[in-house]
Amino acid sequence: MGSGLLYPMDIEPILAEALAGANISAADGVTLLQQRDPEALAAIRQTADALRLRQVGETVTYVVNRNINFTNICEQHCNFCAFRRDAEAEGSYWLDFAPILEKAAEAAAVGATEICMQGGLNPAAQIDGSSLRYYLKLAETIKGCYPSLHLHAFSPQEVQFIARQDGLSYRDVLLALRDGGVDSLPGTAAEVLDDAVRRVLCPEKINSATWLEIVGQAHNIGLPTTSTILSGHIETPVQQIAHLEKLRQLQRQSIEAGRKAAITEFIVLPFVGQEAPGPLRRRVGRDQPVLADALLLMAVARIYLGNWIVNHQPSWVKLGLAGATEALTWGCNDIGGTLMEEHITTMAGAQGGTCMTVDELRGAIASLNRPDRQRDTLYGLVPSSGTASGGAVLSGETTVSSTSTGNTAPARQSRSQSLIA
Ligand code: SF4
Repeated sequence: MGSGLLYPMDIEPILAEALAGANISAADGVTLLQQRDPEALAAIRQTADALRLRQVGETVTYVVNRNINFTNICEQHCNFCAFRRDAEAEGSYWLDFAPILEKAAEAAAVGATEICMQGGLNPAAQIDGSSLRYYLKLAETIKGCYPSLHLHAFSPQEVQFIARQDGLSYRDVLLALRDGGVDSLPGTAAEVLDDAVRRVLCPEKINSATWLEIVGQAHNIGLPTTSTILSGHIETPVQQIAHLEKLRQLQRQSIEAGRKAAITEFIVLPFVGQEAPGPLRRRVGRDQPVLADALLLMAVARIYLGNWIVNHQPSWVKLGLAGATEALTWGCNDIGGTLMEEHITTMAGAQGGTCMTVDELRGAIASLNRPDRQRDTLYGLVPSSGTASGGAVLSGETTVSSTSTGNTAPARQSRSQSLIA
């Protein structure tokens, strides 16, 4: 294979196959996830890192973005969610359009290129009896004033919610959102694409098939999406690989069918249980993610998905910046966004913080002696005039170039950190 790497005998053929450019089988993916021997883990990490270098190069990217979670009022009761509230409960909130615009203005002022907007499923969020009109007003609020900000908004669960509320098809909702200014969809609400797991985690949410259907339809009409997995709770290695397999197949279909868009990135979101509802927290038995498990999953995800989804991002919110930095040596090539305000995972007890400065992200990348580059949501380069250094968030010089990122993937990517709806 010419890599010069030595592997423990049992997984050597699998890693050799991956390095030869093949799509490894689901059974082999499970075998990789079951490894515990330090030598085997080191070989998996080396392979993921070698594939990362080949598929996207040495540069680590980041995006300057802002999260806006417009409400935490939600009709559902996901068993991992510490964010949701009933409408009358203490701590519930529902932002008016003016503060949403203010947040977008603050983001634009410091050079953000993206607004990531998601919220709880609030049945009262309607205009003239229509949920869709409300969501379109959200989009218009931002895009009307800041048309160049990329609006990365509304998960497949939110699309289904709007369709259900208004009696519309998913396609009609997606077309309306696209035409109303939504530029891409977060691939959240995927959790684990296994209906047995979903019945425990999020019994009221859309099932796996609906998630895949909505994402496929989004691609059909030209809306790129991200992809995620909520890991480290009750799911097994077999279920993790089945999730990756569904994403790989979906991406393959979108690309081979010549759909107008595709999945742009994959993000591992390790479960944070500290403030999650008691039953699931007790069943999982720990409050914070196990970094080693997340790193192994990220490496195996690179090996399993990398031919089809080349951009892989860890979650600094869930793993902390040190953990996310380590993930950059386990197959990841992007460190995510500044976020400016992260509430959802922080309310679940995550210790990674609620925002990052560009300096902090670049410093983490520099600690690995790797080059950094600011990207936009779809992994295009951000021209130097598109950023404003020196602000509260953009506290450092941004590295900008007009040259290629070296991204050879069939699809470009974007980001999302939120774990809601
Ligand atoms: S994860 Fe989303 S849909 Fe589930 S309860 Fe929380 S806000 Fe609601």
